[in-house]
Amino acid sequence: TLLNRYDMSLDGGDGGGITEAFKADSFDKKINLGVGAYRDDQGKPYVLPSVRKAEEKVIASRLNKEYAGITGVPEFTKAAAVLAYGKDSTALNRLAITQSISGTGALRIGGAFLARHFPGAKTIYIPTPSWANHAAVFKDSGLTVEKYSYYNKDTIGLDFEGMLADIKAAPEGSIFLFHACAHNPTGVDPTPEQWKQIEAAVKSRGHFSFFDMAYQGFASGNIDTDAFAVRYFVEQGHNVALAQSFAKNMGLYGERVGAFSLVCADAAEAKRVDSQVKILVRPMYSNPPIHGARIAAEILNSPELYGQWLGEVKGMADRIITMRALLKENLEKLGSKHDWSHITSQIGMFAYTGLTPEEMDKLAKEFSVYATRDGRISVAGITSENVGRLAESIFKVKG
Ligand code: PMP
Repeated sequence: TLLNRYDMSLDGGDGGGITEAFKADSFDKKINLGVGAYRDDQGKPYVLPSVRKAEEKVIASRLNKEYAGITGVPEFTKAAAVLAYGKDSTALNRLAITQSISGTGALRIGGAFLARHFPGAKTIYIPTPSWANHAAVFKDSGLTVEKYSYYNKDTIGLDFEGMLADIKAAPEGSIFLFHACAHNPTGVDPTPEQWKQIEAAVKSRGHFSFFDMAYQGFASGNIDTDAFAVRYFVEQGHNVALAQSFAKNMGLYGERVGAFSLVCADAAEAKRVDSQVKILVRPMYSNPPIHGARIAAEILNSPELYGQWLGEVKGMADRIITMRALLKENLEKLGSKHDWSHITSQIGMFAYTGLTPEEMDKLAKEFSVYATRDGRISVAGITSENVGRLAESIFKVKG
């Protein structure tokens, strides 16, 4: 239970109450919408076929188990950079990149790097709300954490005006953390047009941007669409920091595959940053694990597997998009008088339903539907089979 508790709190849960309550519930049609990982339409964990194939290739090649360098498996980090920034990006030849212990580790390295080397105030602004682990990661990295407006609970959408105002009000040269796509926990993302205005505001104040991209490809089904904000900022001249995770888009959760990168002024600066990153990583964990990085590298560097993987990422995204549409449709069919359009306009694994903590308690107690009290549901936990009963339960609680 201690492990469960830890797991849940990492994913913005309630400290383990959901998992425990779900397990203790004997109703056979109980629904767990607290999970922070993709599930297939049978509600089962999913290993991508491209990952299986890549893993078989890695094993068949009988590589040795020697240590990787401090910054990891180069075939992996090079390909990860291309995936994030795009193959023609000017960032690629002035990039410092290191493999990391998935997205969390990337954020931690980035936080520690900024705490040590950022020339301005060591304060990072994160959205309200944000992934539950962000504040802890950055505090432990040595940064002060402040919040900026993001979510408007009245519209169940983006508080765009508030966000822009906070960006403009922050002291010049501040550090801002942005979710690149599929904002967790709200599922609310700025539109490309809004990103352009955000970029202009960030630039006008000389802020530094740190992107957390934990869901590339998983949000829209298209890796380029999901990388829009990061690539746009780079095009506009921002030397951004970036945390990448392959937990969701390759389903490599427990393999802990990620990367931290920093776009530099030129190749010479990238070399200096690379040295400093090594100095920082060495006493933290010496060097990263190799197995998952080899699997990801195999996929990213083999045209055939890469093509297959793109299809599978899209498959996961499409299933989630379909479940959103079905949930909304079912609620409407039941005659719900509420506007549920946010269910389909939000993106990624999570949906903010707008249900209150009391309504969420009722869902759990009376209908065996479990999710966090903030009204966030994991759309990955919805299946063709349970969506009808889920809609009915929400309708009975909310009307
Ligand atoms: N950032 C965000 C916004 C996330 O949602 C997650 C995963 N839930 C992560 C980072 C990091 O996850 P991981 O360390 O498993 O890559």
